[in-house]
Amino acid sequence: MTGLIAQRIDRIREQIPEHVRLIAVTKQVSPEAIREAYEAGVRDFAENRLQEALFKQQQLQDLPDICWHFIGHLQANKAKKVLESFQWIHSVDSLKLARRLDRLAEELSCRPQVCLQVKVVPDPNKYGWRIPALLADLPELDKCHNLGIRGLMTILPLGLSASQALDAFNATRELADKIGQQNWSNLQMDQLSMGMSADYLLAVKAGATMIRLGTIIFGARS
Ligand SMILES: *Cc1c(COP(=O)(O)O)cnc(C)c1O
Repeated sequence: MTGLIAQRIDRIREQIPEHVRLIAVTKQVSPEAIREAYEAGVRDFAENRLQEALFKQQQLQDLPDICWHFIGHLQANKAKKVLESFQWIHSVDSLKLARRLDRLAEELSCRPQVCLQVKVVPDPNKYGWRIPALLADLPELDKCHNLGIRGLMTILPLGLSASQALDAFNATRELADKIGQQNWSNLQMDQLSMGMSADYLLAVKAGATMIRLGTIIFGARS
């Protein structure tokens, strides 16, 4: 008999195109539950807190082909450890952080894959660039040669209607398209990290390439 987590993952897979990367968000989720998702074929896992992630990575060392994604606000003093433990950082939310990561990546000889976090809808409770501020910072971001800048990430404010959410996801894709059409040497815009349990179908409709799902796979967090 397949477990509940595997069943939920299968259901989600049936709803999304094959090229969309399903990232299981494992904050507050036990290593045992992560193993179940792994057994069901998931290889991308995301955490938003470094200490919690390090503990689980330790417990799951025997699963070598996991790709770890960092999705939380990243404090400067944790940047180095995050680079050592995660292949992707979705939550690069300021030029200052990008420059620090760029410098550290050079020191560590690694090439992190990153997304730039944007707020297409104003939201004082969230980190990230507003659109005009991001456009203004692009020339400096383009100089961060040690980062694989791959696209945009967004988290929508709570309480949007479905049509507002779809508009916001579409606006994020349009922004990525616009940046992608400009002539940057280091800014690729082939990835869109958007969509969580409540809105991933809308995000996929708008062109998400990576969806970040927690609750719908593992159940409600306490
Ligand atoms: C927690 C979290 C998610 C997953 O949220 P769910 O609603 O549980 O799917 C996705 N992205 C980020 C940045 C998160 O912190």
